[in-house]
Amino acid sequence: MSTPASRHHKRPRGEGQWALGYREPLNKNEELKKNDDGLNVRQRIIDIYSKRGFDSIDPADLRGRMRWYGLYTQRRPGIDGGKTAILEPEELDDRYFMMRVRIDGGQLDLRQLRTIAGISKDYARGTADLTDRHNVQVHWVEIESVPDIWERLEAVGLSTTEACGDVPRTILGCPVAGIDVEEVFDATSEIDAIKPYIGDPAFSNLPRKYKTALSGCSAHCTVHEINDIAFVGVVNEQGEQGYDLWVGGGLSTNPMLAQRLGVFVRRDQVGEVWAGVTGIFRDYGYRRLRSRARLKFLVNDWGAEKFRQVLETEYLAEPLPDGPAPQAPDVGRRDHVGVFPQKDGNFYVGFAPRVGRLDADKLFAIADIAERHGSSRVRTTLEQKMIILDIAPDQVDSLVAELEAIDLQVRPSTFRRQTMACTGIEYCKLAMIETKGLASDLIDELEKRLPTFDQPLTINVNGCPNSCARIQTADIGLKGQLMLDENGQQVGGFQIHLGGALGVGSGFGRKVRGLKTTAKALPDYVERVVTNFDTQKKEGESFAD
Ligand code: SF4
Repeated sequence: MSTPASRHHKRPRGEGQWALGYREPLNKNEELKKNDDGLNVRQRIIDIYSKRGFDSIDPADLRGRMRWYGLYTQRRPGIDGGKTAILEPEELDDRYFMMRVRIDGGQLDLRQLRTIAGISKDYARGTADLTDRHNVQVHWVEIESVPDIWERLEAVGLSTTEACGDVPRTILGCPVAGIDVEEVFDATSEIDAIKPYIGDPAFSNLPRKYKTALSGCSAHCTVHEINDIAFVGVVNEQGEQGYDLWVGGGLSTNPMLAQRLGVFVRRDQVGEVWAGVTGIFRDYGYRRLRSRARLKFLVNDWGAEKFRQVLETEYLAEPLPDGPAPQAPDVGRRDHVGVFPQKDGNFYVGFAPRVGRLDADKLFAIADIAERHGSSRVRTTLEQKMIILDIAPDQVDSLVAELEAIDLQVRPSTFRRQTMACTGIEYCKLAMIETKGLASDLIDELEKRLPTFDQPLTINVNGCPNSCARIQTADIGLKGQLMLDENGQQVGGFQIHLGGALGVGSGFGRKVRGLKTTAKALPDYVERVVTNFDTQKKEGESFAD
């Protein structure tokens, strides 16, 4: 792997940037990656761990490198949120794994969907959760099963490679690429141009996780504003299709919106440019502190101009021309839920399970329903939803009825449609509180109390200060924490962020000082906020305004 020898980007203190000569690991994570590439754990899982069992797993693999293949140990059941920050990792670890299947662009055919359903049924106690980045996560996986699961996935072109870890994560794409009547163009071939870099040792030791989004969706549904690197489909003045390049977005505890570099990337350059930006992150990214290791910190310090200059002079064969900014979308919702016409006269049908929770039976049922109605393709979205493609006009009503009969709603309430929840304490070792069940109950309660409310309103429920369910971009973002109730008892609750939005008027929700609610009082709180908004809003005003 080559790293530019350039010395002209010095920071006053060593940040562990490889390109400035800091190659010695400055923390445990960097040491772990230096000692052995995360990708190498695959062979040990196949040859040793799956044969000798859980206790044979090297701790550095167990809590580190296994992530390179989408495997995390689950939280041991029964440990309450108050212990999360106190216990040692090994005390929190269960002997089972969460396994994340990466689904680049959210694209699945029915064979792939049934394969995931079968894995869920045979190896994961029937669990299957849709994430907010296209993926499906299953739980209760035993180490002994992992090679069989990989075999089944790989036989249909799926994998768990680099689904977690300090690597390029699942590539986000528009789930209706190629069929959407409104799209700028179909960007699927550029997602395919990046895929060969997944599992490439040149990019398997990045300073931290690295998120890619790429689409030609006119609704900008891939949330390019909060990804490390994003390609947004545009057409330049000469009428040529290409991409506007954004870098350095991310949420978590220091949220930052991505910055435009102002360049025009031709469609055939996407692979090279992706590798260039990712190379900058690898070589110049900060490795001293995990909390400053995402690309956004480097972009924030350098600024767009310098980032572009380094990209062009050190990583690309030729400079990139200036390019246009994307058109602002005029749609309020970017989730593709509902029934929509396709370019070819057929329809696609997006539906909403509860907070992304499915199971093996439902996955099989979705495949059967799609097939019975003439479809062979489904998609996963960025909002814990799914879409069935290619439905003939005379089949739509029947398909919708069959989905709704198994509680997969095509015309859901705002609350069902726009509430997301992260994994939470059920399985996640960082969680303070439970999320999925609570969010599901919240939906029921709000549907009962506010049956006619139909404005767009996103409610994102997170089990800790991390932002897996994108706290800061929601109208009502809920950050799980422990707090005291009115009787002085420690209970689960939320810090509240209000008014976050992406797209036109991008901005993060404001953490309102002292604004908190216990989990028990959450329905009352949301009802109050929504009712106030509804009665006081002016013409055309959205919740984020
Ligand atoms: Fe776990 Fe926190 Fe992420 Fe939720 S937000 S999945 S609790 S790390």
